[in-house]
Amino acid sequence: MDKKQCKVRVVIRVRPPLLESDKSSVSTSNNHVTIFNHRNVKENIQYEFSAVYGRDSSQQQIFSECVKPLLPKALSGQNVSIFAYGPTGAGKTHTMLGTPLNPGVIPRVINEIFTQIEEEKNACSEWTYTVSFSYLEIYNEKVQDLLEPSGSDLPIREDADKNILIPGLATKVIHNFNEFKNVFGPASNNRTVAATKLNEHSSRSHSIVQLTVKKQKPCQILHGKIYLIDLAGSEDNRRTGNQGIRLKESGAINKSLFALGEVVDAINNGLPRVPYRNSKLTRLLQDSIGGSCHSVMITNVAPEERYYYDTYCTLNLATKSKKI
Ligand code: ADP
Ligand code: MG
Repeated sequence: MDKKQCKVRVVIRVRPPLLESDKSSVSTSNNHVTIFNHRNVKENIQYEFSAVYGRDSSQQQIFSECVKPLLPKALSGQNVSIFAYGPTGAGKTHTMLGTPLNPGVIPRVINEIFTQIEEEKNACSEWTYTVSFSYLEIYNEKVQDLLEPSGSDLPIREDADKNILIPGLATKVIHNFNEFKNVFGPASNNRTVAATKLNEHSSRSHSIVQLTVKKQKPCQILHGKIYLIDLAGSEDNRRTGNQGIRLKESGAINKSLFALGEVVDAINNGLPRVPYRNSKLTRLLQDSIGGSCHSVMITNVAPEERYYYDTYCTLNLATKSKKI
């Protein structure tokens, strides 16, 4: 058996300042990020990552360099997971969802999957393809269906082949991008019911698109799964005593986010046991992160001085996770 673990690739994206007048505490060059603490001019900290995307990085660039290379893996039956990690306000939703004029990772992945399927069909007509997706969130350790909301907490199961399943989760078959948009658009509006509460909600919940590509010919079936995840805000993840900063509310720790950090650390440091069972999110991802699965963590940070502490914590965590 091949014991080789694929590591989780960690890249950084720094969004532009929202107001040009805001003092910036982050600069980028090549694959380095430097943060400045304006209260202590001597304290400049530099970090190095496999890739750093600065304020001028485009949605297209993030997609083509970090995400697109993984899609052929899903078309050959492997599992892929793409995460946006970082504090609330740092650009996770912009990165994953974007806007109609400036679409992010999710719409680009759907588009590209159909393009790649067309190319494969043109090269070899032996296979038939079925693309489907589910849309869910994990909020307070409850798994909620966003396509067909029922309010109940759905169970996470493992089948005999170690595939992770959510019995009862709605799945929609789609044949093109427009079909995706027509189902996904209204479903994401499900989350905006109480607009004023949305930010608080999205800062605590993990929003998950699960895309499945089934590819079959008479004697063979391949199943590839792609997880596209807009994680809860990492500012909730401060550990008690971490750098002497108290937790604002002890109840604010997001168990799944914390557990994901431990899973990524275990995978990237080559530990023999990966602690998948400590949260709903990591149990769900058990067949899609580590092992032979391909994963990227797009770590988002904000440049404004008021985010300094969040940026510092986020980059430290990301540095810890990228260690070999
Ligand atoms: P998060 O989901 O991490 O809380 P958002 O994606 O909502 O953060 O981003 C916060 C704000 O910053 C939004 O107004 C968003 O439009 C803007 N923003 C985020 N990233 C970028 C970017 N790369 N370029 C321009 N604006 C951005
Ligand atoms: Mg968001």
